[in-house]
Amino acid sequence: MRKSIIVHGGGGRAPTGPTGERQSVLDRAAAAGMRGRTAVEMVELAVHVVEDHPMFDSATGAVLTLDGECELDACLMTGDGRLGAVAGLTRTRYPISVARAVMEKTDHHLLVGSGATRFARLNGFPDYDPRTPERVAYWKRLRRDLRLGTDRPDFRFWKKLRFWHRKYGLFETCGACAIDARGGFAAATSTGGIWMKLPGRVGDTPVPGAGTCANAFGAISATGHGEGVMRHAFGRTAVELMRRLPCQEALEATIRLASKHGIECGIIGVDRRGRLGAAKSAGWMQVGIAGAR
Ligand code: ASP
Repeated sequence: MRKSIIVHGGGGRAPTGPTGERQSVLDRAAAAGMRGRTAVEMVELAVHVVEDHPMFDSATGAVLTLDGECELDACLMTGDGRLGAVAGLTRTRYPISVARAVMEKTDHHLLVGSGATRFARLNGFPDYDPRTPERVAYWKRLRRDLRLGTDRPDFRFWKKLRFWHRKYGLFETCGACAIDARGGFAAATSTGGIWMKLPGRVGDTPVPGAGTCANAFGAISATGHGEGVMRHAFGRTAVELMRRLPCQEALEATIRLASKHGIECGIIGVDRRGRLGAAKSAGWMQVGIAGAR
């Protein structure tokens, strides 16, 4: 099998910031992934590059909750049925590696909040504050706007924030899907979630079958409005469709379903034959690719 990898850095209605720089980070991430031997190493190495870049909503530079904290979610899943995930980490540089440690060192699949933090510390992950000055400044602006009602109403009426998300429609999560030389494949996703989420909110990313999924037919990583992706389990839908469809067709069919439900999202994937794919419901999504024919 020929090794290959695809990486996304989120998507949305329109890009904010320079798309050129964004593309070069994704290309670098894909190239870094190619240095891994197994599919797990490949997706982890690729995601690290994006987790370290403040332009993306993934570890360093992740978006903030209403309380002004980062709460990081990540998941890693393989075609041969291994799975590790974390949710609500506040002080970690590489959440995807903590998810991998959950997969390899525990009998569990998903650790959250303080337990996940303790697990990370016990496994040698140093404390690290992923908040950047730019994100904190933007958070202050949003807090002010929300309080004044200049943009959206009082944040106690959080449901109304959905309109705010619709208005901006920007997702900057990171994900990677890879296949290795032995035909093993995996998906990984790492995110700070959505701006001004309620503390404790967990999105689709660490929920297997939602924003991250793998089975014997393929693996996917999604970006977009997590509640919608989770509600319809689009990750599971996509990999099940790969039973009979090539990756790209399976992703397009899943996105048609998402659009029917009015859910903005994008998905990348790889199938068991090593075919890569990417599809999105609206706007734009950039990907980095390496190793594909
Ligand atoms: N899907 C992520 C979430 O809702 C957000 C993103 O894709 O940027 O947590």
